[in-house]
Amino acid sequence: MFAAIDNPSFQAFPWLGLLLWAAFAAAAAACTSATRWVHATGQTLEIPHADRWAVAVAACGLALLGGFLAAGPIAIPVAAAAAAAALVGFVRKRDAVVPESRRFLSRGGMANIAAEVRAASKRATERQRAEKQPAPTLAERLKALIGGLGKAKAKRGDPAAAEGVATAADNGVFTFLKKDGTPAIATDDPEAMSDNVRNSRKMLMAAMRAEATDIHLEPQEQQYFVRFRIDGVLQDIDKMPIQEGRGVMSTLKVLSDMNIAERRRPQDGTFAATLDAAKYDIRAASTPTSYGEKMVLRLLQSSGGVMKSGLDSIGLRPQVLKRLNEIIHKPYGMFLVVGPTGSGKTTTVYASLSEIDAHKHNITTIEDPVEYRLENITQIAVNSQAEVSFAKILRSVLRQDPDVLLVGEIRDKETAEIACQAALTGHFVFSTLHANDTVATITRLLDLGLDPTLIQTAVTAVLGQRLARKLCEKCKQKCDPPPGLLKKFKLRDGEIGHIYREKGCEHCRGTGFKGRMGIHELLVMNDGIRDLISDQPVVGDLKKAAIKSGTQTLQIDGLMKVIKGQTSVSEILRVTT
Ligand SMILES: [Zn+2]
Repeated sequence: MFAAIDNPSFQAFPWLGLLLWAAFAAAAAACTSATRWVHATGQTLEIPHADRWAVAVAACGLALLGGFLAAGPIAIPVAAAAAAAALVGFVRKRDAVVPESRRFLSRGGMANIAAEVRAASKRATERQRAEKQPAPTLAERLKALIGGLGKAKAKRGDPAAAEGVATAADNGVFTFLKKDGTPAIATDDPEAMSDNVRNSRKMLMAAMRAEATDIHLEPQEQQYFVRFRIDGVLQDIDKMPIQEGRGVMSTLKVLSDMNIAERRRPQDGTFAATLDAAKYDIRAASTPTSYGEKMVLRLLQSSGGVMKSGLDSIGLRPQVLKRLNEIIHKPYGMFLVVGPTGSGKTTTVYASLSEIDAHKHNITTIEDPVEYRLENITQIAVNSQAEVSFAKILRSVLRQDPDVLLVGEIRDKETAEIACQAALTGHFVFSTLHANDTVATITRLLDLGLDPTLIQTAVTAVLGQRLARKLCEKCKQKCDPPPGLLKKFKLRDGEIGHIYREKGCEHCRGTGFKGRMGIHELLVMNDGIRDLISDQPVVGDLKKAAIKSGTQTLQIDGLMKVIKGQTSVSEILRVTT
């Protein structure tokens, strides 16, 4: 009766029968998932007659079942070919409505999708690695905090426990504020809010509780990804169904005064919020992607904000601290703090400035925007919209008899030139610059078009900086120092005992790290280095001269902190390579 089983070749080779059944099962499973995919994609992308395609693929599945039982193995390739034909038909319809970069039947689209799949699988492995640790991962804990966002509450095994965390997340007074500080939403009561406002509130509260600095809302084909940046590292937090994500997006656009109908152009705006006693200024920036709008929110805690701590609070090694204190108390010259975005340059430059006696010196800052308030100091904000640039303000400030100047950031030749002139004419100038390390600062200034002689004469010292995460004191794990580390410091086996690596516990939300500290390299200008600065400096020679004059590179400074047990080798490699 069953051709597939009665086939004579099966009696001769029983394993062949098993193999054929396995092939049949695989083909049937493939047909089922293909049907589901066609149905879901058709619905999301609103492809006309999408369900006819789903029925076509499903019919191939049924034909496979019937054919396999009646006619034997030949049914597998026949049904597979039919299903593939139906699928290709559907994919052509799909490709017609998705952006170029998402098309399956285009080489560029495929390459793009393949790259995304690789990135996603990398993220998944990293997540798995984190989940192997016994403590709940950050994502799990925040999911519980966010509660309703991913419908996690309904799915959770223990409803009472879920209720507990959800209430904890709702505990506390959260208020949405407009730019001018007036309430933006009529009520603070989550029960009285619309779903979209309530979801936005939960997401923001979770981010504030996790001490996140940024929230990323990224649309995918069928959902929105929510990621938080905590201690400088982006972490996957949650997913939202696409409709829910769009609702949150609209709420955030209204709050930050954006044009809600505009989805094709990048926009930005600001709003504020308070959670208990803390006030946050929130900068929102939206940008179109192939699946719709993406949004990044930057959270700046604005209460407090007065810089009181000095240079000894930023994690400088004692020798570097001593050198730096000598440098910034010179009557004239220029001190630059350099590093990539988010490396803590502003904090360091303010901490140095706060070491200077504001009663005896006329200190003026020019910033974009003013990030910390300092006592007894004139602070001026650059307003790029009113065409009041760094250079323009700097010129007028120089007529106000300043002793010490802080130029927020050197971005162009004009600012660099005036700042150098000021440093040469009896002022001490502090500034920051976007450069990878101290030696790269010299080439960066030359690239801006600055004359080599100005750099030789004006720049006193450059401090390169990164922020590295500190190991969580509650769960850090002893381990042997890798041979490479010992070799780098010319140490013998056993000379430094053990170092530590990250593990993860409840205290650090499963990451193994808690808080951050700076790692630094200080380059003090001397004749040897000045001689090497020309139109076309040899970077290798500059590096050698810097090291000869006592500069410890960022990596060496970081590894010294590894030996002290403050951070891990992997963290230092992450921030210095
Ligand atoms: Zn821990």
